[in-house]
Amino acid sequence: MTQLNTAEKLAILADAAKYDASCSSSGAQRRDSKNSKGIGSTLGGGICHSYTPDGRCISLLKILLTNSCTFDCHYCINRRSSNVRRARFTAREVVDLTIDFYKRNYIEGLFLSSGIINTPDYTMEQIVEVARSLREDHNFRGYIHLKTIPDADPALVAKAGVHADRISINVELPTESGLLRLAPEKSQNRIESAMGSMRNAIEEGADARKRFRSAPVFAPAGQSTQMIVGADAATDRDIVSRASTLYARFALRRVYYSAFSPIPDASAVLPLRRPPLMREHRLYQSDWLIRFYNYTAAEVSAAADPMTGMLPLDIDPKLAWALKFRDMFPVDVNRASKEILLRVPGLGPKAVRSILVSRRHRALRLEDIGRMTVSVRKLRPFIVTTDWRPVSLSDSADLRPLVAPKPIQLEMFGT
Ligand code: SF4
Repeated sequence: MTQLNTAEKLAILADAAKYDASCSSSGAQRRDSKNSKGIGSTLGGGICHSYTPDGRCISLLKILLTNSCTFDCHYCINRRSSNVRRARFTAREVVDLTIDFYKRNYIEGLFLSSGIINTPDYTMEQIVEVARSLREDHNFRGYIHLKTIPDADPALVAKAGVHADRISINVELPTESGLLRLAPEKSQNRIESAMGSMRNAIEEGADARKRFRSAPVFAPAGQSTQMIVGADAATDRDIVSRASTLYARFALRRVYYSAFSPIPDASAVLPLRRPPLMREHRLYQSDWLIRFYNYTAAEVSAAADPMTGMLPLDIDPKLAWALKFRDMFPVDVNRASKEILLRVPGLGPKAVRSILVSRRHRALRLEDIGRMTVSVRKLRPFIVTTDWRPVSLSDSADLRPLVAPKPIQLEMFGT
């Protein structure tokens, strides 16, 4: 490996980290201010945004310790056989960069991942050393998110939880067959066993804190994972079902979905095109329905096309479900339970809370609902109020054009 200076390493290792979606926002327009008027850029790497458990948006230094890897996962630009420029930070260099950036007010925390150097245990030791040194040598109180290596010794992974706010272990692909085909050196059993150990450690840590105030905090922002969408044949139904199982078995805070993005020098087993970004968006909406609207995975899956198992791209999964189960509507907003109100397209948890409070005092009219929601026009076919009852619309075929968003003309050369 040729000698690189810190700026060169940062450019390579921040760029290599951008494929990990578990703390970033994707889909921003490509803009920069080089050779032109203006300031700022969406292209520069290294700093991304994330949300803390209390809802604050913070900036993180997002880098890899190294983009060299002994594994050869087909979908990964850092795989052993990839022809990319390699770089490696020492643990000390990452610590110094984090502290420098923090003091300059560029960042509020660190997101650190790594390719596998030598052995999973050695790599994990280096990752833990970064977090340990930040916390113990520099008394760093900022946010730390560590990506852990499932094959590493569980004792090392547990040490990561002592210093990090959040731990993530990627399941990578939604199905075991996809993992076998595209990441043959990884094992679903080993990944799940690491996630199970992390769940136990987090729960034991939280329990100890309840009993002894002096007990150390252990990964207070929990654990998360990421699934790549569109690199294998898994359908949206497979993905929703897998995510729901992961939430239930490992008490995950988040499952992130990352639309597969074609990489330079791609392996022949990968698709040539990326899936539509809207697919990733629909999966996030489905995830939201399960976590905040009490839908089961089976209910969300019922909104998918029965033949292909894919969610519609032109309408959101909640609307797709409502159009499919038209006999559940209209619902009377003055009588329906909270669970039923949450099924109405256009009513979110906040609006439902307002309805439940307001209707204790008086019967609600359509204009009352209008004040609690963004658009009452879309809601009307699905609700009954004291002065409103939909009459003519009876099935999803005549209703869909009225409630679906207007189609947008796509750019001819857009991806
Ligand atoms: S182990 Fe991680 S870094 Fe290495 S090739 Fe697989 S996905 Fe890429």
